[in-house]
This record gives sequence, structure tokens and C-alpha cells, in this order.
Amino acid sequence: MTDPRALFRTKRSNLERSARPARDNSSEGAGDDGLRRSSINRMHTPSQKLIEEKFVCLRCNECCRKPGYVYLTKGEEETIAGFLGVSVHEFVNASCELIDRRRLVLKKSSDESCIFLTPGGCSIHSAKPKQCRDFPLLWRTEKSFDYCEGLKKVFRDHA
Ligand code: SF4
Ligand code: SF4
Repeated sequence: MTDPRALFRTKRSNLERSARPARDNSSEGAGDDGLRRSSINRMHTPSQKLIEEKFVCLRCNECCRKPGYVYLTKGEEETIAGFLGVSVHEFVNASCELIDRRRLVLKKSSDESCIFLTPGGCSIHSAKPKQCRDFPLLWRTEKSFDYCEGLKKVFRDHA
């Protein structure tokens, strides 16, 4: 049987290979905002199957406030630019940075949150990058359990 923790480590390593993934990464995140809970017993982290069955996003938006980058994959700048009703050039100039000279990421606000995060949530929700859509079912780190309210609920209810 595949170890679910190995699964998400593999997915994480794919994203983190050249830099930190967007939403959860870094050394950072959760711990720095006081949410680190050393009391969580990692030995009992819910399985991938359980998370897939029980996880519900509780819209806390904590994943959009974490240090790290949201990488754009091929074609996503066109998708977001189209959603915003601007040209790709305008979108990239206003909302992206170039990392490692070749990878586009979404800009961050001074507090490290994504520039598309608003009090009402993600302002590009229906066009948001795959990296955002995949979290936390297809990738996450152990620290995700410290701040993601949906994961914390799975942990509380089922671990
Ligand atoms: S694009 Fe949206 S979902 Fe992704 S980090 Fe930014 S605000 Fe969050
Ligand atoms: S941290 Fe988890 S519960 Fe909160 S918005 Fe992100 S995916 Fe949803």
C-alpha cells in the first residue's frame, strides 16, 4: 500500500525542487503566526484517503497568506489575464514576478499574502493557478496541518 505521507512528500518535492511552493511552504508559515501546534502528533496525520473523503475548504484563506510563491504553469497567464480582462502583457507587468530568470510567480503583498487575496477571498477564484486549486488534496506539507482550517478539522474529527 502506498504511504500517503510519502505521496504528498513526493508531490511537495516536485513543487519545491527549484524554490518553495506557494501557499504553505517555507520555514515559516504557520509557525510564525503562532499557529504552530507542536501538540499535533504527526504519527497520526490523517491518511490521503481520509483527507480526500473528508476535507472541506473552510475558506479561512490562510493558505493565501503564507510565504512562498504561487508559480504559474503554461497558459495560466493567458487564463488569468482573460479573466481580468487585460492583456497578458498588462497582467504579467502588474501582477507577476520572474523567479530564477524564467518562472513566473504571482506577486505578493508586503505582508507576504498573495496580491489577489481580498477580504472576501481570492479575487481570481475561477481562474486561479493549478497550484492553488491542488492544495491541499494534491500537495501539502506537514505544516499545512498547522494552519489550514479544513485539514485541522479532518485531524480533529478523524485522526
Ligand atoms: S491566486 Fe487566489 S487562491 Fe491562489 S494564493 Fe492568490 S488569493 Fe490564494
Ligand atoms: S487554508 Fe485550507 S481551509 Fe483555509 S482556504 Fe486554504 S485550503 Fe481552504
